[in-house]
Amino acid sequence: MDIVKIMKFGGTSVGNPDRMRALIPLVTDKDRKIVVLSAMSGTTNNLVEITDLLYPGNVNEASSKIESLRAAYHQVVHDLFATDPFRKTGHELIDSHFDYINNFTLRVFTKLQEKAIIAQGELLSTSLFHQLLQEREIKSVLLPALNFMRIDKDGEPDYFYIEENVSRELRKHKSETIIITQGFICRNVYGEIDNLKRGGSDYSASIIGAALKVKEIQIWTDISGFRNNDPRHVENTKIIRELSFDEAAELAYFGAKILHPASVNPAREKNIPVRLKNTMDPEDEGTLVTSTSKLVDYKAVAAKDGISVLRIRSDRMLMAYGFLRKVFEIFEAYRTPIDMITTSEVAVSLTIDNPQYLNQIAQDLRELGTVEVEKNQTIICIVGDFRTERVGSAPEIFLALNTIPLKMISYGGSPNSLSLLVDSSDKIQALKLLSKHLFS
Ligand code: ASP
Ligand code: MG
Repeated sequence: MDIVKIMKFGGTSVGNPDRMRALIPLVTDKDRKIVVLSAMSGTTNNLVEITDLLYPGNVNEASSKIESLRAAYHQVVHDLFATDPFRKTGHELIDSHFDYINNFTLRVFTKLQEKAIIAQGELLSTSLFHQLLQEREIKSVLLPALNFMRIDKDGEPDYFYIEENVSRELRKHKSETIIITQGFICRNVYGEIDNLKRGGSDYSASIIGAALKVKEIQIWTDISGFRNNDPRHVENTKIIRELSFDEAAELAYFGAKILHPASVNPAREKNIPVRLKNTMDPEDEGTLVTSTSKLVDYKAVAAKDGISVLRIRSDRMLMAYGFLRKVFEIFEAYRTPIDMITTSEVAVSLTIDNPQYLNQIAQDLRELGTVEVEKNQTIICIVGDFRTERVGSAPEIFLALNTIPLKMISYGGSPNSLSLLVDSSDKIQALKLLSKHLFS
């Protein structure tokens, strides 16, 4: 029997015993499925804090954090299970994971140990959920992600390996309908424990779904899908019912924290619908991401903070070729991706979201011309129908924002979006104005 769907549940969806129990009716339909779980919310952060203490050898503080996390998990076990035998196994399970973590306080601490510790979050949540189903006498199997998830030397998923190995693992469990596995964790080219970077469980779900060519990849969180604006800043936002892969990728990248941006690619590649669902409101149909979603003038607005802009001005640019290459090479040397770019004949403005090498980049760029740097910028991305053959698209945007300084405008780069750069202090007002003019 083929796997029909992937159901990925995020940290809050497994965040406490009640939430875990609430998943039982969701996973017990007849479909053969893979259930991908994140760590319980907060756990990965806690584990990262522990590893941050262990790098500089701060063993005492690390140990006390380990012990308080251990105690929290013992409480989870106590509340999660209804019977003594399962509580007993649960407590033993917790101790085995935390004794393992504790071992690393006695050794030299490197990346290898860090990754092994951070992996414990997903290993714990999946084991606990598996045990919970066993206690309820619901058949399920726990498939270790470390047996089939793998990244290559560039840190990219090794699709060939994953497809082979997940299929092989699944052949051992032909009749099971509930197959549980860990999100986020994997092995690297050396076979060591590694991960897909923070928030990577969505990516795991999409990679596995693509490898198995499932009918649907479901990403369950605690909200009902993408909204057309940021509900933290704007009232009356609405759920977007349909998005294309490209639109979802833009929204995911530009601030909508509901979906890991990389997770759109594997699904798009194999044309597998992705559905965003809410464990707090399972009846809600959520957002469906497909290749056939219809275009709409304006679908959504999202904002990404923490942007820096670099403005390079040089008379050498005038009618010259090769100038931009020199600019781009500098960003490449510092492995810093560029988000937005606009040019004129003698000047070019670029934005980056990773300020780690901002000073060095600016310094190197000064060889090419005068350079101005401004921090605390926000990119506002408007997703909609911006095909270049259209007439009359976008006037509402500029009318809406005629009281806000627009520092860069990027149009024509994508048929799905138009991006603007504003001072972060203008962001909330800009989002409100766009909501009023585009969606009401
Ligand atoms: N537990 C990991 C994190 O917090 C992965 C995930 O939840 O997606 O980043
Ligand atoms: Mg997440």
